[in-house]
Amino acid sequence: MALNHPLSTYFILLLITITRLISIVGKTEQWKKAPILQELDIDNISLKFHDDPETIQIASRDYGNIVHEFPRSVFRPSSIDDIVTLIKSSYNSPSPFHIAARGQGHSTNGQAMAREGVVVDMATLRKQRNGVAINVSKDPLIGHYADVGGEQLWIDVLHSTLEHGLAPVSWTDYLYLTVGGTLSNAGISGQSFRYGPQISNVHEMDVITGKGEFVTCSWQKNLELFHAVLGGLGQFGVIARARIALEPAPKRVKWVRLLYSDFSAFTKDQERLISINGRKQKTALDFLEGILLMNQGPINNWRSSFFPISDHPRIASLITQHSIIYCLEVAKYYDDQTEKNVDKEIKVLLQGLVYIPGFYYEKNVSYVEFLNRVRSGELKLQSQGLWDVPHPWLNFFIPKSQILDFDSGVFRDIVLKRNISSGPVLVYPMNRNKWDDRMSASIPEEDVFYTVGFLHSSGFDNWKEYDAQNREILEFCSDAGIEVKQYLPNHTTQEDWSNHFGAKWVTFLERKRQFDPRMILSPGQKIFDKQLQQAF
Ligand code: FAD
Repeated sequence: MALNHPLSTYFILLLITITRLISIVGKTEQWKKAPILQELDIDNISLKFHDDPETIQIASRDYGNIVHEFPRSVFRPSSIDDIVTLIKSSYNSPSPFHIAARGQGHSTNGQAMAREGVVVDMATLRKQRNGVAINVSKDPLIGHYADVGGEQLWIDVLHSTLEHGLAPVSWTDYLYLTVGGTLSNAGISGQSFRYGPQISNVHEMDVITGKGEFVTCSWQKNLELFHAVLGGLGQFGVIARARIALEPAPKRVKWVRLLYSDFSAFTKDQERLISINGRKQKTALDFLEGILLMNQGPINNWRSSFFPISDHPRIASLITQHSIIYCLEVAKYYDDQTEKNVDKEIKVLLQGLVYIPGFYYEKNVSYVEFLNRVRSGELKLQSQGLWDVPHPWLNFFIPKSQILDFDSGVFRDIVLKRNISSGPVLVYPMNRNKWDDRMSASIPEEDVFYTVGFLHSSGFDNWKEYDAQNREILEFCSDAGIEVKQYLPNHTTQEDWSNHFGAKWVTFLERKRQFDPRMILSPGQKIFDKQLQQAF
């Protein structure tokens, strides 16, 4: 972990940090409900604040549609300088106000909101910088890269880089998310086992810190800020630009799904496949995930329609027989040169896997179709008015050694017993050595850990049932000693945040003191709200 000091040194560091925080808390007691536009030297940006009811309403909602925090104003920047001026104004004010960058607002628990503060609408900047904020270049040391505005969408990064025959290597399942938003968490998908999360594929960033300073950080300079911001939940600065690693883009994808009734066999096969993971290792898979098929949800869900309709009855009867079927999902990319080998390579890789005979499915699709596979489901739900419903999601990481206990206690007990209709449930492993532990993102200690995602959609009147299930799952894990780390974390007490970050918590606090000492940024994460400040 980040701290390898002997225990006594650890406690001394802790003491120093707490002492410093007490002094910070003293300063931040000046928080009060002052009108934001008064007292501040913000003449040149004053026209960019908006507080009409519709704008405020939008900024107080997110994809989760459960938490609603009303800002005092929404800030629509025309440039990065505008954001610098805004943050500086708050930092220098006797009454600092909270500021949250809002990417797409695709968080599920109010993380991009700012109660009584200012929400920075990064979409305005995106429109403003349309076409000029994604630039592809090459460096003799690092190879090809794209300089990308933090407000940009990954789908646009994909299209722009493909014009050069290049693409990033690490993705999220859904591409209408912002670069700044996913880098503030980690950015994970089926490529993570081999290429690491998106935060492992950044060379450099421009960041506006909580002091309003515009700082370039990278492996070479301002390393502490670089590590802090990646996976830093928006706590240390606004990402204005990220330099993303690029590789030659493949053209097509062979996409395979295999069905299992035995969880142990399913995870053993997943783990075997992710053990072949060298970046340059041509025999490795390019993508691996897993999903649960249950009676509580449709066979083809909004995340991707894959199984032929003609096979639905026999898959349905398999589900009825076993209650839960585990679906292994893998992909191998190819292009004109490698097309002739791809079938053979997949065959070799999948040899010896113990899926249910006869339940092998494959598709050949374009690279863009594969990466953008969730979009058509989204558009369909939007057209039915079902995209903006509440989403009581729960995502976490689980050490490999505890995943079987998780299956029996959660999938096969809590989930089946509660029997509420379910959204997609994902379960797939990744390799810890593809993550950099100096970054803020918090992950389990074991070499291999699983991500599990309950991606529920609910009605407006029954999201509490899902919330109750989520809480039961977390309680079960806590009682059973299963060491889960929430991904896209949602904690509200200092104790929970301290547990979440574990040994990194002291570093996290120290970095906050250094880069956002007045605790201005991303208050919606509820790490440094007033209650927590008082608890210090
Ligand atoms: P927001 O929700 O707007 O912001 C998230 C946090 O980042 C907030 O604290 C905000 O203040 C901060 N922030 C935003 N922009 C910046 C910036 N430029 N600089 C600094 N801080 C900033 N995640 C995965 O890892 N893998 C997936 O496959 C995946 N699939 C998803 C599918 C769907 C349909 C949805 C809704 C979400 C998915 N996510 C996934 C989660 C997603 O990564 C998070 O919601 C993330 O927050 C990105 O969303 P956003 O860009 O809208 O950020």
